[in-house]
Amino acid sequence: MEKNDRIVVAGAGGFIAGALVRYFRDRGFTNIRAVDKKPLAQWYQRTPGVESLCLDLSEEENCRKAAEGAAEVYNLAADMGGMGFIERHRVECLRSILINTHLIESAWKAGAQRYFFSSSACAYNIDLQQDPKVRALKESDAYPANAERGYGWEKLMSEIFCQEYSAERGFATFTARFHNVYGPFGTWDGGREKAPAAICRKVIEAKDRNSKEIVIWGDGTQTRSFMYIDDCTKGIDMIMHCDALRATPINLGSSELVSVNDLVSMVESIGGVKLARRYDPTAPRGVAGRNSDNTMIRKILGWEPDTPLRDGLAKTYRWIEQQYSDRKAGKHTVS
Ligand code: NAD
Repeated sequence: MEKNDRIVVAGAGGFIAGALVRYFRDRGFTNIRAVDKKPLAQWYQRTPGVESLCLDLSEEENCRKAAEGAAEVYNLAADMGGMGFIERHRVECLRSILINTHLIESAWKAGAQRYFFSSSACAYNIDLQQDPKVRALKESDAYPANAERGYGWEKLMSEIFCQEYSAERGFATFTARFHNVYGPFGTWDGGREKAPAAICRKVIEAKDRNSKEIVIWGDGTQTRSFMYIDDCTKGIDMIMHCDALRATPINLGSSELVSVNDLVSMVESIGGVKLARRYDPTAPRGVAGRNSDNTMIRKILGWEPDTPLRDGLAKTYRWIEQQYSDRKAGKHTVS
């Protein structure tokens, strides 16, 4: 890549793509086009010196405009959120297939050299995730397929699009299956937030309101791994530029497995508080356990996401604390 080659990042008004735009800008790329359907004023981050377009990429014509002149296209646009969102809005999640379908075709027609798709650990067979002491998921565990309803099936199908564009049309496509990503500039309130941000917010709220109690979704025994945002952007760059990974979905996640109860304890210790736990068994809780098997990424890239959860959470907590007080002061915040 030359520094002035055009990089197109879809979903750039959101968390991960917003960070990816900043990542490339920090590395000296001068021709970045950021695209999202949200009005610019609602983007989580705006990076100076970047062309920012408000376009709905579920429309073919808009994908054509977005991909014009692109050397590389990164598709991170999707209608998604944490378990609370994806369990209740399966149709919206499935409809994200329109984005990838039109964007990959437009990128290919525009003569782009490489295409990246952000898949998810939700593409894995849910039968393998019924125990909190779960065996970490390796790439081949996506088949035989029994993905998360709605969201997971959209990811799996879009992965197939990427593989067939590569096999049949010779287009260099790359797919990472992200496992929960967290960090500053992620959604922290409003219904789409994920567990790390939601728990930070709840602890901050409890301290602010002096309520001494926290409500936890499920029974707190469900396990997950969580990847810090800086590992995610670095991993996307490495995967996209590794020819051995062409048309080959790969895990991009941390392998530090914790229960939701552990996560709450970490956040409490960062916040310097101990709260009574009230469990809500009726709330969405997702699968019982999910972890990332990083054998393949270690072997191919010689690297894996390695930010300790405690360190990433401390940064995220401070950022959400600031957001919380900004919102109370009537300032504009991410949510
Ligand atoms: P996000 O919700 O913060 O960002 C997604 C962005 O896509 C939003 O800004 C949204 O407005 C935009 N978008 C939705 N529909 C669009 C459309 N029709 N046209 C243009 N833009 C549209 O989510 P995120 O956490 O940054 O996730 C980015 C990608 O990574 C998504 O594909 C998501 O499925 C995937 N992923 C994320 C996680 C995670 O833990 N955050 C885990 C697995 C996979």
